[in-house]
This record gives sequence, C-alpha cells and structure tokens, in this order.
Amino acid sequence: MALKVPFRNLSKLNKLYYRRVRKKIKSLFEKEIYIWGEEVEAFEKEFAKYCGVEFCIGVGSGLKALTLIFMAYKALGIMKEGDEVIVPANTFIASILAISLNNLVPVLVEPELKTYLIDPESIERNITSKTKAILAVHLYGQTCEMDKIWDLAKAYNLKVIEDAAQAHGAFYKDKKAGALGDVAGFSFYPSKNLGALGDAGAVTTSDPELAKTVRSLANYGSPKPYVFKLRGLNARMDDFQAIILKEKLKDLDTYNEKRRKIAKFYLENLKNPLITVPYVRNWKEHVFHLFVIRCKEREGLKHYLEKKGVKTLIHYPIPPHKQLAYKEWNEKSYPITEEIHQTVLSLPLCPTMSLRQAQYVVKVVNSFST
Ligand SMILES: *Cc1c(COP(=O)(O)O)cnc(C)c1O
Repeated sequence: MALKVPFRNLSKLNKLYYRRVRKKIKSLFEKEIYIWGEEVEAFEKEFAKYCGVEFCIGVGSGLKALTLIFMAYKALGIMKEGDEVIVPANTFIASILAISLNNLVPVLVEPELKTYLIDPESIERNITSKTKAILAVHLYGQTCEMDKIWDLAKAYNLKVIEDAAQAHGAFYKDKKAGALGDVAGFSFYPSKNLGALGDAGAVTTSDPELAKTVRSLANYGSPKPYVFKLRGLNARMDDFQAIILKEKLKDLDTYNEKRRKIAKFYLENLKNPLITVPYVRNWKEHVFHLFVIRCKEREGLKHYLEKKGVKTLIHYPIPPHKQLAYKEWNEKSYPITEEIHQTVLSLPLCPTMSLRQAQYVVKVVNSFST
C-alpha cells in the first residue's frame, strides 16, 4: 500500500502555535516598537540561556549572523582584509559568502566522507601565516570534532567560529552548539530545527566586546541613536519572529528527540547494500536537521522513491567550488566533497512524521535495486 511521505511538513508543525502566540501577536498591533523591541530581548535572553552563553543578538538571518561575526572581528582589529578563514568545502554557500563578503579569503578544506564534517587533519594542512579562524559547520545537525579543532586553534592562535545553522540544541560532550567556539551564527530559516515564520538568525557568544560590536554593526554601526562609530548593516530581528521563536524554543528539545527517534529507526532498519547511512559519533548528541544517506545510484534511487510517494531532497547538488559565484575555484579539485555532492540524498525527516511513514520509507528504500 502506497503512502505519501512529504520531505517535511512545516504547516502541520506551525499550525500548532497559532493558538499559543495569537495574544502576543495581537498585542504587537498596540505597540510602537516592532524591531529589536521587548519580544526580541526576551527571546535573546532565553536563547542565550538555552545555549549556555552570556550573550545572544537577534538578527535578520543566518547569513547576516555569520557576516556580522567577521565584520566585528575586523572592526576589533583581530582580522583584516586578505586574512584566511578555513571552511569545509561541502558546506552551504552562506558559510562561504559570509567570509568573502568581508574581503577575507575562504580556504576550502575537505570533510570526512563518513560524517560529512570538516576533517581536523585537512584543517591543519591548510593553515598558513594568514589563517585567522576556523569556521566549524555542524552540518546536518552533528557537531564537529571540537576538541581537535580547539587544539589547532590554540596551537596556531585562531578564532573558532561555529556555523550552527543546522544544529540548534546539538551537543558536543556536555556543551551545546552555540557555546562550542568563540562565537556562533544561527539561522532560524523556517525549515531549520528552530524555525521562524520568515527570516531570522542569531549570534551567540560569551565575549562581551564581540557581542557589543556585533550589536552595533547590526544596527548601522550605531552604539547609540544617531551616533555612528562603524560602517554597519541593518540586520535586526523582528519582534514578530521573536514571539514565534520564543514559543517554539520551549519544544525544541522534544522535537529534536522526535527527529532522533526517526533517525534511529532509519539507522537500525535501512539494510540496502546500495546505500550508506550517516555515521553518528556516539559522544555527540546529533539533532538530525537532515538524514543524509549516500548512494552511487542516487538519481535512480531518488526517482524510484518519488514514484513510490516518498519525497527526497539533495543537500546539496553542486559544491560551492563548482558554482559560478566562485568561478576562480571551478577548476580546483576536492574529491571527497565532489563524491559527497554526487551521492548524497536526504530522506524525509521532521518532528511531525509518524512511525508508519518512517516504516514505509524504510520498506521502499530497502526494496530499491538497480
Ligand atoms: C541555512 C544555513 C545558513 C544561512 O542561513 P539563512 O538564515 O538562510 O541566511 C548558513 N549556513 C548553513 C550551514 C545553513 O544551513
């Protein structure tokens, strides 16, 4: 019997919140301040506490969060144009854009094939006298090997910046994403583990100077009204989004647990020799933003699943170094990254998914043959 399994179901999840936020949303209409008002302040407090850091700055998107971090380090004299930042070659383009938008140089390094996460050994091979930071991307919801990354950062005097856009609530040992580096950028794009009803993001850190600088840069570079100390952006969070996010934050751990349950079911029951399931490190609490398998016959598998009613997506089909936006890298070769982009397929996974749907996905994937 065929079931329809959507990749995710955001409306099913978000509908649950209408009743819970409608009073607050209604009260917004009575207010004078809609951006960086008291709702944003309240969310910032909650999210800082949740991550285990001193400061959270609510901003307009994940890309803005990451861009502001590099801008702030430049404003503080810790980085300057032409400095290098190490970043995994298989990340989402925004990680890399944040670096190059600041006229810093992204240095792409290979990930590990089995975890899809930046490989500490390839980091070390790529450190030069110009390297100033490592951008650790907790891709698909699993945290990077932070102990090894910190060893390198200390040895070479580098900043550790987290791209935590896919890792809300993920742990590395006893600490959460957002508190694992010097500073972190989050996205609350609707499909993320914690998602708004529009664009939003945050910067988390326990460094007071950095927090102050990010806050000022997100507000035209203005430390107080009509005084401009730096050349900044307008990258502030809306109170409307903060209301939604604060309410959804209460359920984030529950939803992450649901994601892990489905992932566990997949990991235990997917038995097709043509596919490789993701490698999960046992000391890290993965939050399965995505469940990404690999298959040499990816196109065939995707098509087969589609025909059987199972929606899948590819994260991501073209690696950053093969994109027109980075023409200068098009001839470079990153074999592991390229293999990942040629073979990955994300299976349906969201907190509203039923066990029956997961069983159906497993049955269909296991029945695929060439
Ligand atoms: C979503 C995402 C971003 C960008 O966030 P936006 O809010 O869409 O700007 C950055 N990095 C990673 C790894 C992401 O998944």
